[in-house]
Amino acid sequence: MDEFSLIRQFFVDQPVSRSDVVLGIGDDGAVLQAPAGQQLVSTADTLVAGRHFPDATAAADVGYKALAVNLSDLAAMGAEPAWASLQLTLPEADESWLGQFRDGFFALAARHQVQLVGGDTVRGPLNVAVQLTGFVPPGQALTRGGAQPGDDIYVTGTLGDAALALQHLEVLSGPAQAWCRTRLNRPMPRCAAGIALRGVASAAIDLSDGLVADLGHVAEASGVGARIDVDLLPLSDAYREHRAAGGGLDAAVGGGDDYELCFTVAPAQQGRLEALAAGWDCGFTRIGVVTGDSGVEWHHGDGSSYRPGLTGFRHFT
Ligand SMILES: [Mg+2]
Repeated sequence: MDEFSLIRQFFVDQPVSRSDVVLGIGDDGAVLQAPAGQQLVSTADTLVAGRHFPDATAAADVGYKALAVNLSDLAAMGAEPAWASLQLTLPEADESWLGQFRDGFFALAARHQVQLVGGDTVRGPLNVAVQLTGFVPPGQALTRGGAQPGDDIYVTGTLGDAALALQHLEVLSGPAQAWCRTRLNRPMPRCAAGIALRGVASAAIDLSDGLVADLGHVAEASGVGARIDVDLLPLSDAYREHRAAGGGLDAAVGGGDDYELCFTVAPAQQGRLEALAAGWDCGFTRIGVVTGDSGVEWHHGDGSSYRPGLTGFRHFT
């Protein structure tokens, strides 16, 4: 066996063993039993070293985040995650790095009952590609395309912390720095919230590239506009420190990598939303309203206009 065949053995022993995996890692392909009456939702996302994460990022964080960003996409679809495959491109067969990568990946997989069912390992510049499949009842997948004028716009969690970790750490206290670094390296995919929003949200997206870019996708796909009050954006204590030191709202409005959900809810569904969200591990905040215009209009609580300084996260370049 060559060294990369050995590496593949790193991933055979894993925390999750699902009954719907008929044949997992080790053959030419996986055999998977799709649940009766469910639709499959498939997503794929690649992390490139030096582009999607700093080169110095800990291996365990790279493993965690490679799965987290895909879980976040399934959350935005309202899908329950199940099966992952991993394409790992490595400059060298560093067993220590790999062991930590695996630990980070499997720690999150265990939390969401995701089984790794296949993949490949090759030599090259560090690059981690994950493909993830989940389930949703027929017709209940959330999409970007269903927002209607008059719907309220919400986000989960807090915004801008990951961008602060990349751009503004120097002005923050130790605990605030640690919080922002955790938010960047260990985002919490909002899977439970996404599943709960089936039949309640009219549209949903996960905030990977920042609110400006991602809300723009919802507006475009739905053929609507939006009005956002930037003074309603949910900010962490760390972000409030940034504000107190003279920092603006740009990281919260335009910074990426938060992996929170942004979703729209029709007025008639507000009551159901309140009831559902009591069981979530994250808060949710109303930030604005869907309009019949085109494009997104940003304003302060006093009505004065706000011009976003960042129009889409460029990662850390
Ligand atoms: Mg997404």
